Amino acid sequence: MKALQYRTIGAPPEVVGVPDPEPGPGQVLLKVTAAGVCHSDIAVMSWPTEGFPYELPLTLGHEGVGTVAALGAGVTGLREGDAVAVYGPWGCGTCAKCAEGKENYCLRAGELGIHPPGLGRPGSMAEYLLVDDARHLVPLDGLDPVAAVPLTDAGLTPYHAIKQSLPKLGPGSTAVVIGSGGLGHVAIQLLRALTPARVVALDVSEEKLRLAREVGAHEAVLSDARAAAAVREITGGLGAEAVFDFVGVEPTVKTAGAVAAVEADVTLVGIGGAALPVGFGLLPFEVSVKAPYWGTRAELIEVLALARSGALSVHTETFSLDEAPLAYERLHAGAVDGRAVVLPHG
Ligand SMILES: [Zn+2]
Ligand SMILES: [Zn+2]
Repeated sequence: MKALQYRTIGAPPEVVGVPDPEPGPGQVLLKVTAAGVCHSDIAVMSWPTEGFPYELPLTLGHEGVGTVAALGAGVTGLREGDAVAVYGPWGCGTCAKCAEGKENYCLRAGELGIHPPGLGRPGSMAEYLLVDDARHLVPLDGLDPVAAVPLTDAGLTPYHAIKQSLPKLGPGSTAVVIGSGGLGHVAIQLLRALTPARVVALDVSEEKLRLAREVGAHEAVLSDARAAAAVREITGGLGAEAVFDFVGVEPTVKTAGAVAAVEADVTLVGIGGAALPVGFGLLPFEVSVKAPYWGTRAELIEVLALARSGALSVHTETFSLDEAPLAYERLHAGAVDGRAVVLPHG
């Protein structure tokens, strides 16, 4: 079968032929209908050889939806042809965190060498994907595969972050979304669907700000050195009760801290790697700073339910598997509106 692989450190990914995967006991083989192109793959492909955490070649793609093509021995509860979404942050399934559905925080994944598809294990940018356990699949139940696939990360990750700050986002509150790309443009819609908060979006281009307004941001502010002052002005000098940074680089993290209100939540979601110093006098009183990772199985089920209710409209641009390297190039250049989605059989 064809797969998009990251093969050489620093080189662009390539479409290559790989052996067809066969499901072993307990595994499920999916025919991939859609795979999402995520900015974190670009971060992975920028890491140096020293300390690179995954084996190469690596088939990319940690957002996937497909139809069940074959069941391994002993798999029950699924039938061939079922349309499903893949829950990506695989865990052991039995530790205390996994028992709560928080496989994203599995306590034993490191020790057992368990990796998500596309981030250590062969991912969804291929004609077929091997899923290690049926519990990592959620029925699409009528959702369009292209619109649904970004929800498995670009929907689930902001959903998890926003859900924790819901108590802070009552009437009269403000939520700031930094970066209105793949995750951010879904975050804006989640905030509108789940809270009465005023939503202020920040991004570096007018194009991205246009998308932010289109999907529900009340205010859209250019993310530059003046951004923090602009948000302060919008909030009558008080700042925002919740700030979500989907970029996570030095200037955005600095802005995130600078726009936080007293007792605000600042959530650093983007994997830019920048730090926000916490200490007395460095931020307004009692600001909480968090850096979460992905979301829980239950939350993926909730995000898909929200999409079924019509509350989310993910903007997508589709590419064939042969065009997948181009999708990454365009994302790297900031030229993708919303989420790029690869159709391996399209
Ligand atoms: Zn991602
Ligand atoms: Zn676990």
